[in-house]
Amino acid sequence: MLSRSPAILAPALIALAALSACATAPSGHPAPIAQAEQRAPVTILVSIDGFRSDYLHRGVTPHLAALAAGGIEGPMRPSFPTKTFPNHWAIVTGDRPDRNGIVANSMEDASRPDEKFTMASDDPYWWNEAEPIWATAEQAGVRTATMFWPGSNVAWGATRDTDWPHMIHGGTRPSDWAQFNQAIGGTQRVNMVLDVLRRPADIRPHFVTLYFDTVDTAGHIYGPDAPETAQALTEVDAHVGELVAGLKAMGQPANLVIVADHGMAARATDRVVALDKVADPADYRIVEYGPYASLTALPGHEKALEAALLKPQPHMQCWRKSEIPARFHYGTHRRIPPYFCLGETGWEIQPTTPTKPVTGGNHGWDDRAPEMQALFIANGPAFVPHAKAPADFANVDVYPLLARLLGVTPRPSDADPAALADIVR
Ligand code: AMP
Ligand code: ZN
Ligand code: ZN
Repeated sequence: MLSRSPAILAPALIALAALSACATAPSGHPAPIAQAEQRAPVTILVSIDGFRSDYLHRGVTPHLAALAAGGIEGPMRPSFPTKTFPNHWAIVTGDRPDRNGIVANSMEDASRPDEKFTMASDDPYWWNEAEPIWATAEQAGVRTATMFWPGSNVAWGATRDTDWPHMIHGGTRPSDWAQFNQAIGGTQRVNMVLDVLRRPADIRPHFVTLYFDTVDTAGHIYGPDAPETAQALTEVDAHVGELVAGLKAMGQPANLVIVADHGMAARATDRVVALDKVADPADYRIVEYGPYASLTALPGHEKALEAALLKPQPHMQCWRKSEIPARFHYGTHRRIPPYFCLGETGWEIQPTTPTKPVTGGNHGWDDRAPEMQALFIANGPAFVPHAKAPADFANVDVYPLLARLLGVTPRPSDADPAALADIVR
């Protein structure tokens, strides 16, 4: 029985060790003892992609609800645009997309005219504009491991030859990282985190990331209010339960910071703006479309495009990139195309009138829209229990919190180090 109950065994060993420490051998010298290990807390940053903040209150995520009840919880404002890669990079760098270089999930850069950034791009060129917390930590001698996180497979800070064989020079990666693969299931991901924490202390990480994508996928396919999305929530919640139980079983205290990158809003066939009805497709090229659209004018067509776009439009608004309202903190980076249109929340911008029904959900809209607010839970020995997260804090503010938990000096960033300072003991 004992061998099956390490949670019981660990405190028992510590008690035994304490007892024998008082004992003396017949020689008068202290008897040698097998000291049970007292583990220092590990920081685990968990992302549940697309976990809208109010999902937590649907009664389908008991493990997350328990962590929230014993720790700190509150809606977290994502950065704009409310997409996966820009926001995951904002959380680990403290810089908003306009400065962290990951301005979209799909990008062009005039300095790399023959390339396009996609979610599969691991050339450090795209990522080097802001330093992720794991690079700062590794450089400070704090060992890190990532069980997926956008950018965690990149040799951060390195240069990569543009010619074959694309040698990589320099750079910092997490000591342990894995190439993203959606097919690796939630339990496997949790077990890989638990496995690195079972290692001997000298090769055990102090900071770990863990990423789940199924809630986002269900939200896209079925919509935020669908039973299938509730089912995905319950499944991910069970994986969080596996993590908590596994940590307890090995006697590993943890400061858990559980976040989402953005929320989710329902889309509909009768909430679509067809761009070709607004402007002449002969005047522009679309770079991205959906909750927002980014465009370039075809050479010589700037005036015609501006005349069509830059006036009041039903259900969307367009700007020159330099005139995007300041509250979005978006529009200075060279990777942002010259024209940017944002749909009213729930309204999608598409190249033409869709021929198939528009169903399910999406994200990318205004970072202040209630539907785009993201999950935040902090639970662990470092945190003030039963505290409330400050109202309307930004996801970049998680970065200085992580730096503090890891004992490393944060880089200057867009974050407000005071925003979450009061939730730490
Ligand atoms: P989005 O299009 O913004 O909804 O992006 C969500 C998708 O990003 C997920 O369904 C994943 O398949 C994908 N994704 C998440 N992390 C990574 C990664 N590290 N590398 C490649 N794709 C990823
Ligand atoms: Zn996402
Ligand atoms: Zn998504």
